[in-house]
Amino acid sequence: MSESKVIVITGASSGIGKATAEILAKDGAQLVLAARRENLLQELVASVESLGGQAVYQVTDVTDVNQVEALADLAIETYGKIDVWMNNAGIMPQSLLADKRIKDWDNMIDINIKGTLYGIGAALPHMTEKKMGHFINISSVAGHYAHSGGAVYSATKWAVRAISESLREEVASDNIRVTIVSPGAINTELLDSVTDKNFQSNFTDFYNNFGISADRVALTIKQAIDLPADAAWNEIIIRPTKQVQ
Ligand code: NDP
Repeated sequence: MSESKVIVITGASSGIGKATAEILAKDGAQLVLAARRENLLQELVASVESLGGQAVYQVTDVTDVNQVEALADLAIETYGKIDVWMNNAGIMPQSLLADKRIKDWDNMIDINIKGTLYGIGAALPHMTEKKMGHFINISSVAGHYAHSGGAVYSATKWAVRAISESLREEVASDNIRVTIVSPGAINTELLDSVTDKNFQSNFTDFYNNFGISADRVALTIKQAIDLPADAAWNEIIIRPTKQVQ
């Protein structure tokens, strides 16, 4: 089980990251929690401890490579190893390309793609040294299907899959696992990141009809972690049963 595994989670302050921390805490995991909102991280540390896990946190913006490197350092200083690194922080400000919401484009590229790369770069030396480890990279159903309004978000989530598959080939001989998790509509704070009000309203209706709890994704991630280390779930789509695409 996940007991005594050291697991770093970016984007841990809400949604899928928080739910994953809480489910892993029940197995006694040692968690290193990162996001920008410190008060939520402090609350999560208390929740993890009440559930039977251990946790430290560090305020981390995944667009800053130095902060991500410092997060890996915290994991090593506190627990001595990194068993699992979950690249989860992400935003989804979808809009039409013609609207040129360039700040949103840049933010998605910086958080969803560069944040994932910085996480891989920070954790990989520690995993390679110990010849063990596990990356869990959060993509999306939108990393498999592109639709009107989703060009940049889908591109970032496609990128997560491409990076993950290349990583898998590069680290297989070092006994390091790579799992891509592509969720469908999950009820989290993600819609708060949608800056275009029309898109946000349409998504809200869709999620109200189809969205499922972040616990479902957390359980999937726990199962991927719990699999014996000589086997890896390389790619998982987890979406509401009633969601078509
Ligand atoms: P939430 O908005 O609830 O969680 C996103 C997390 O990312 C928050 O903890 C937020 O924390 C963190 N975050 C955002 N920007 C940064 C940053 N610059 N640096 C560090 N942390 C950051 O949404 P979800 O839980 O849904 O999202 C988690 C992942 O799941 C994302 O990658 C998302 O794209 C993906 N996903 C979600 C789906 C869904 O339907 N919910 C579907 C498919 C994929 P803070 O603001 O405190 O920094």
